[in-house]
Amino acid sequence: MHIKNLKTQFYSELKNIQEDSEIESFFFILTEYLHNLKRIDISLQPEFEVSDEDLIKWNTIISDLKAEKPIQYITGEAWFYGLRFEVNENTLIPRPETEELVEWIVESTKLEAGSTKLKVLDIGTGSGCIPISLKKEIPNSDVFTIDVSEKAIETAAKNASENNVEINFKHQSVLEMDNLDEFGTKFDVIVSNPPYVRNLEKQEIKKNVLDYEPHLALFVEDTDALLFYRKIAQLALNGLKPNGKLFFEINQYLGKETIELLENLGFKNIELRKDFVGNDRMICCEIQ
Ligand code: GLN
Repeated sequence: MHIKNLKTQFYSELKNIQEDSEIESFFFILTEYLHNLKRIDISLQPEFEVSDEDLIKWNTIISDLKAEKPIQYITGEAWFYGLRFEVNENTLIPRPETEELVEWIVESTKLEAGSTKLKVLDIGTGSGCIPISLKKEIPNSDVFTIDVSEKAIETAAKNASENNVEINFKHQSVLEMDNLDEFGTKFDVIVSNPPYVRNLEKQEIKKNVLDYEPHLALFVEDTDALLFYRKIAQLALNGLKPNGKLFFEINQYLGKETIELLENLGFKNIELRKDFVGNDRMICCEIQ
């Protein structure tokens, strides 16, 4: 089949499920993924012949897209902070709002990363998008990271080596830690994007997220939605250097509650920021 005819078929199969602009971007992501052809190549070679073998692949992918499988899990890659990350069913797909959190950390620590090495800890790393982009932006840093999922750690380690950065990975549940002593250092920055979606918010979560992304990384009990925040903030009380900073991505509906929790633990200079959509999304605070 000629690629131009496949394109027509692709659009007509997906038109009831996706916006036109989305279908177009999916199509070109896939021509590159399957045939190494960019948009310009398709215009230049509309009669490029798609083999029967490749047509089978296209048809499988079309069924997956109809079932709202994220394109990132089909191609196995996502982009974050200008870097490429392998993603799979064990890792969340990195979100643009998390890029804003990284940007905030970079902007608030760049000046400090002078002569002494900045010590950074990321808790619940997933694909490794936060620590890897931080290490790229702040090369003069030692970056440590933990995740409860061994498979996520494997993916994150692979992502670190593909992006040519060195990160210290550890398979560990933060909920089982009493302190951060094992790292042998106090931290300038502790950051986490922990699970924060409550079951009561499930109906707001789209099918592409709910059916495919790891629930372990997304959901918390309605009765204790700030479980991870409390635990991590408690560990940070002793684990941060005196002028160190704790950064969180937060549940947009729990900004007030998260601030209260941090105030009650004695954190100062608590700052809440919104994401590009206008939702309360991230917090920075200090111990003194
Ligand atoms: N922002 C993610 C979502 O909306 C949730 C990330 C998280 O739970 N840490 O799906």
